Amino acid sequence: MSAVPLKTLDTARPQSQRSVTVLGATGSIGDSTMDLLRRGGERFRVEAVTAHSNVEALAKLAREFNVGFAAVADEARLDALREALAGTGIACGAGEAAVIEAAARPADWVMAAVSGAAGLKPALAAVDRGATVALANKECLVCAGEFFMTRAVKTGARILPADSEHNALFQALSSGNREELVRVIITASGGPFRTWTAEAIEQASLEQALKHPNWSMGQKITIDSASMMNKGLEVIEAAHLFGLTADEIDVLVHPQSIVHGMVEFSDRSVVAQLGAPDMRIPIAHCLGWPDRLPGPAARLDLAAIGQLTFEVPDLKRFPGLGLAYEALRTGGGAPTVFNAANEIAVAAFVARKIRFGMIARLVEATIEAALRDVAAAAPASADEAIAVDHVARKLAASLLPQIAAKAS
Ligand code: NDP
Ligand code: MG
Repeated sequence: MSAVPLKTLDTARPQSQRSVTVLGATGSIGDSTMDLLRRGGERFRVEAVTAHSNVEALAKLAREFNVGFAAVADEARLDALREALAGTGIACGAGEAAVIEAAARPADWVMAAVSGAAGLKPALAAVDRGATVALANKECLVCAGEFFMTRAVKTGARILPADSEHNALFQALSSGNREELVRVIITASGGPFRTWTAEAIEQASLEQALKHPNWSMGQKITIDSASMMNKGLEVIEAAHLFGLTADEIDVLVHPQSIVHGMVEFSDRSVVAQLGAPDMRIPIAHCLGWPDRLPGPAARLDLAAIGQLTFEVPDLKRFPGLGLAYEALRTGGGAPTVFNAANEIAVAAFVARKIRFGMIARLVEATIEAALRDVAAAAPASADEAIAVDHVARKLAASLLPQIAAKAS
C-alpha cells in the first residue's frame, strides 16, 4: 500500500534498561513518576530517590524499587532513615549534600521534582554530568535560568520539560523551525478564583486556595495556581527553556485544562498538544523520550467534554502574572527576586500571617526594593543565584509586617 510515510520507531536503537533517579520522589510529581516506573517494570532501574523529611514514604519507595541510594534533605531525619532501611543494604545520606550526591550518581535520566529554589543545586548536579534531566522544578529556571541553560549546553545535558504546558510546547515546536515561530501560548486553568471578584480574592482562605478545580498537586504550586503566580513562573520558565522573549509568550485562561500549550507558526498554523489533566502524560513523554511509553492516563474524550473555552487573563484580579512579565522584561536578578519573594509570601499565607491578596503586593514591594539594593545582573553561578535569593527572602520577610499593616 502506498501511503504518506510516517516517522517509524528506530528499532536498531538498543532498548537497554534506563537507570533513573527521582529528586523529590515523595511529592506529587514524584508520586506520578514512581507510578510510571512501577508500570514500566524491567525497562527502568531506580538508582536514587530523595525527599525533604518524609522518611517513611522515602524508605518505602527505596525498598520497593531496591534503589542504590536514598537521601533525605533534613539532617535530623538521618537516624530515622537508617533505621527504616536497616538490613536492606541500601546506602543513605542526609542534608543538602546527600541530595546533591543522589543527583550526581550515574543515572541516565533524572526527574528534578524538588519544590522551590532548593531544587536548583541538585538539578545542576545532574546537569553537570550531562544527564537527561526531566525538569518539573520551574523555580530553578526562574531563579537562575540563563546560567542553568548555558550550563546544560556546555555539559551536553538534555533538558526535557516535565511541566505540562512546556511539555506541550516541546511537542508542538518540533513541527516547525525557530525562524518560523511567531509565538507560543500556554494555558492556565484560572484556578479556583477564576470567576471571583477582586474583593473576594483578597479575602480568600487557605482552604479555598487549596481547592484546585482540575489538577491535584503539591501545596505550594496549588496556591501559586490560585494566584496565577504559577503561570507567571511558567512564562519565565518558557522564556529560558526555549529562548523566547516576553513578547513571544502569551497566556490564555482555559478552564477545562485540556489544551496545554500551542505554537503559532508563520503560515498561521497553530499546533497544540491536548490531553487529560494528568501529570503522568508529560512525565511519560519525558520518561520515554525520544520514544513514547504506553500511558495509564485516561484517554481524551472530546465529545464527552463538549466545549473548550478560552479567556484573556485578567491582570487586575491576578496581578502576579503581570509582575512576572515585568520581571522577565527587567531581566537581571528580577526573576530571582520574584521567585524568592513569592516563596516567602506563600509561606506567610499558609501560616495565616497574610491575606491572599497580599501575596502579589509583597512580591511587588520586594522587587521594587530589591532593584534599588541588590545587584541587577543575572546570577552567573548557582551561588550567586542563591545569594540573591537569600537577600530577597530577607527583604520580603522585612517588608511583610508593613504590607500586612497597610492592608488591615
Ligand atoms: P510537593 O510539595 O508535592 O513535593 C516536593 C518534593 O520535594 C517532596 O519529595 C519533598 O519531600 C521534596 N522537598 C521539599 N523541600 C525540599 C528541600 N528543601 N530539599 C530537598 N527536597 C525537598 O511538590 P510537587 O511535586 O507538586 O512539585 C514539585 C516541583 O514540580 C515544583 O517545582 C512544582 O512547581 C513543579 N511542578 C509540579 C506540578 C504538579 O502537578 N504537582 C506540575 C508542574 C510542575 P517531603 O515529601 O519529604 O516534603
Ligand atoms: Mg504547569
